[in-house]
Amino acid sequence: MITLALSKGRIFDETLPLLKAAGIEVLDDPETTRKLILATNQPEVRVVLVRASDVPTYVQYGGADLGITGKDTLLEHGSQGLYQPLDLQIAKCRMSVAVREGFDYAGAVRQGSRLRVATKFVAIAREFFASKGVHVDLIKLYGSMELAPLTGLSDAIVDVVSTGNTLKANHLVEVERIMDISSRLVVNQAALKLKQQPIRRIIDAFAAALQQPTAP
Ligand code: AMP
Repeated sequence: MITLALSKGRIFDETLPLLKAAGIEVLDDPETTRKLILATNQPEVRVVLVRASDVPTYVQYGGADLGITGKDTLLEHGSQGLYQPLDLQIAKCRMSVAVREGFDYAGAVRQGSRLRVATKFVAIAREFFASKGVHVDLIKLYGSMELAPLTGLSDAIVDVVSTGNTLKANHLVEVERIMDISSRLVVNQAALKLKQQPIRRIIDAFAAALQQPTAP
């Protein structure tokens, strides 16, 4: 049995064409079913639905053989024990710093002020501000980061931005782009050895669909 860990929503939807290229069709719709393990048209392949931030954990410890997750999640989680053969170029967005309209971010950085930054992405934010030599107090949040500067909880946020509409609707402006994000295929290294043929077949089919060379 090959188990693929996916999260519902954008990643699931954008993975379906890749699965199709590998001859795999998921038999249930995750938006309507309450099942967490979904069968496919291939009896030896199943999909497990997990939270996006749990995908690396499932794959690392062998709860799933493969998974698809954002670069942001991998950087936060760390990628020990994970083989990352492909950038799938799906669920694209960027990681950015944003502040309230009218907040002088450049001035605060220039003056060496200590900034309060709210984020779910503490590791990425810590690394980014350390590399710039900016002193920050990081405040860990689990959701709705946009609210933090509006309520005075923080001066800035580090969050993922796609169209920028959410920032705009909350009178926030993007002041720095930290990195571009897309989703990656991750593979459990032990599974890759034990189930080499079926896993390689999936990796190769994804790579062919993406017209990317397969990593060795
Ligand atoms: P947008 O208004 O299009 O800039 O989308 C911003 C919000 O959507 C962010 O606060 C994120 O929570 C979420 N979002 C957009 N794209 C992604 C993505 N690729 N991965 C995870 N979350 C995303």
